[in-house]
Amino acid sequence: MKPKLVVVGAAGRMGSRIIVLAVESGGFDIVGAVEKEGHPDIGKDAGILAGAGPIDVKLADEFLEAGDVAVDFSQPEAADRTIDYCIKNDVALVSGTTGLSEQQRGKFKAASEKIPIIYGTNMSVGMNVLFNLVGKVATMLGDEYDIEIIEQHHRFKKDAPSGSALTLAENICKATGRDCPGSLTHGRNGKDALRQKGTIGMHAVRAGDITGVHSVIFGTLGETVTVNHTANNRDTFAGGALRAAKWLVGKEPALYSMADVLGIS
Ligand code: NAD
Repeated sequence: MKPKLVVVGAAGRMGSRIIVLAVESGGFDIVGAVEKEGHPDIGKDAGILAGAGPIDVKLADEFLEAGDVAVDFSQPEAADRTIDYCIKNDVALVSGTTGLSEQQRGKFKAASEKIPIIYGTNMSVGMNVLFNLVGKVATMLGDEYDIEIIEQHHRFKKDAPSGSALTLAENICKATGRDCPGSLTHGRNGKDALRQKGTIGMHAVRAGDITGVHSVIFGTLGETVTVNHTANNRDTFAGGALRAAKWLVGKEPALYSMADVLGIS
């Protein structure tokens, strides 16, 4: 039996690619395509909208049918409705939406006592390897190295810094004993903007259609070490999310991560 998939944010950039890859893989039965109230394409075939051909599932502004797993790449304001639906219908949840509040992340944690959940700020394999690595690099280099994180995204991205940049920073803080978010400095401006030792500089670039570039710079007097990840297109995230969705179905209730899916936790 193929897992029944519900896509939330189904008409968005990520939602569309998830529908296309799910259809192409033949590994899912798409049973729901949910969008925000008032979306102009409500009622149209979600597969045609995504460019996957007809799938006989209409874009809806509500959850109509219970699936096995929901994949949500939408906006933070959608998160509460998605969690409530998943708990009520015993549906596993993969959420890639970034910019969630502390309270919403707490709600994921509470919900994970009832359903299996994966929340990941970046679903690509390469970035999850980087998440795993940065703390080790920071620890090996030591506190003489200044750390700056630069992320680049398309002009339509609402939240800043990116969820992935924050995860990179959190992992470095965890590994090196820095306070998070206390040691993060967002941007730098003015006459008294000298770098403070131990801080992590966070910088967000927004331009054109950049899919996603993250650079972590470790610099000291005499050398600079840079680790870099470039997402060439959204399919790296969409494919990772579907891999996570397949892995999650049938798992015990808990809050899992992409590292668990990839076996690198
Ligand atoms: P997008 O704006 O193209 O798509 C978001 C879609 O969600 C839109 O179609 C919008 O109408 C819809 N939406 C808004 N409110 C909704 C609601 N209440 N219910 C249902 N749908 C609703 O954005 P995108 O580029 O597809 O990105 C979506 C999210 O995924 C963002 O938070 C982005 O940062 C994140 N993202 C995460 C990863 C990852 O790997 N975790 C990768 C890329 C993007």
